[in-house]
Parts: sequence; structure tokens; C-alpha cells
Amino acid sequence: MEVKGFIPNSLLDWEGYIVSTVFLPYCNFRCPFCQNSTLIFSPQKFPTIPWNEMENYWKKNSKWIDGVCITGGEPCIYKELPEFIGKIKSLGLKVKLDTNGSFPEMLNILIKGNLVDYIAMDIKAPLEYSVYRKAAGLKNKEEFDKVKESIEILKKEEVEYEFRTTVVPTLHNEEDILKIAQSLKGAKRYFLQNFVPHDTLDPQFEKIKPYDRKILEDWCNKIKGFFEECGVRGK
Ligand code: SF4
Repeated sequence: MEVKGFIPNSLLDWEGYIVSTVFLPYCNFRCPFCQNSTLIFSPQKFPTIPWNEMENYWKKNSKWIDGVCITGGEPCIYKELPEFIGKIKSLGLKVKLDTNGSFPEMLNILIKGNLVDYIAMDIKAPLEYSVYRKAAGLKNKEEFDKVKESIEILKKEEVEYEFRTTVVPTLHNEEDILKIAQSLKGAKRYFLQNFVPHDTLDPQFEKIKPYDRKILEDWCNKIKGFFEECGVRGK
């Protein structure tokens, strides 16, 4: 497992915390709007960040770094993830994991092992296989079933979590967001994130103009009663 990106300090990746963000390459999904296509297809273009470099940074700055956000790509494709996170936690840091939710077994391992403090799981589309397949580039229905399994795991609230959807014109409209919200009803947190047409996996998506933020805020107002917390992120 190689780390292919390291942002030493970020105030944006975990609300309320100062974190470092670690990027792990490759992903089992193929979302056409993915903004990390180089990390997924050509991670060799990025230098590998040695563990010691990150560890030294965290030790030196332990007074004010609260935690580490692990993102990708899809971090859960790596069997070594629990060991990697264990080393981070042994330095006294909190850990947030970003995931596409297709590895429920890994989520269980991390939750039961007290290895994660917060999980942010993407919900790519309404929970219907044919629609989800298109939005996430799924290979088979098994991946979709695993996403649904992960939703149920997080809803047990054994760990702090959020669901979030990157809202992309041509893939999502108001009805889709209402459908997603309906199926997640009762969950703790749900966020709508505005799409950024940059370095997209399908180059055609770079031509798509994101929704005006006000539209997302309007949809958010319609669904916020379903959740303890619901909001909009991005411009
Ligand atoms: S946006 Fe999709 S393809 Fe890109 S890293 Fe996330 S799950 Fe993988």
C-alpha cells in the first residue's frame, strides 16, 4: 500500500478539526464525475510519500494536529488498512475515513477495532441498481449490495458518520435527491456536495456546469427534516 498524496494541514476535510489528509491510490468504482482520475489510473505519476516523513511531521506537530483524514481513491481496497490506521492511532491521532461503501467487511473490522472516529460514505445515486451502476460505474450487483450493507452498518451508530452525495447535473435531479434522502431517512448526517468539473474520469464531464448552490440549498431545505444534520458543501 503506497501513500500517493499528503496534505499536512487541512481545515476542510473534517469539520471542526485540523487534520492531515492522506491519499491512497486506485478504486474499484468508476464514477464518471470522479475528480481523482490520475490517482486512480496513473498513481505512478505521483511520488510515494514514505511513512517516516508523515510520522515525523505528526510527532513534530502533535500539539495542534487533531487527526488524519484517509481518502483516495478507495482506501478500503487495502487489506493492510487496519494496520496502517493502527500506526496512526498509536501516535494519539484521530482518524476519519472517506469511502464509497463497497467494503462492509472492512468497515466492521475498523469499527469493532476502534480504529476509526468518523466515516464519510458516498451515496452515488438513488438506491436502485441500474441507476447506481451508471453513477458509480459498478461492475456487478454484488458491489451495489455491499453499498446497501454498509449503509445499514453506519446507521447502527457505533461510530460517528455521515452520508454525502456529489450532485452532478445529468446524473442527479431533485427527484433523485428526494429518493436518496427518503431511503437514508433517520440517518445522522447527510450532505450535498457540489460537483467540480475538473480532471474528471470521463472527460465529457468537464463540460458539465455544476448546479447553482442555491438549487442545492433549496433541495436541502426539503429533506433536512429527515436527518439530525443536513447541509450543502462547495460553491
Ligand atoms: S469518486 Fe468514484 S471513482 Fe473516484 S475515488 Fe470516489 S468512488 Fe472511486
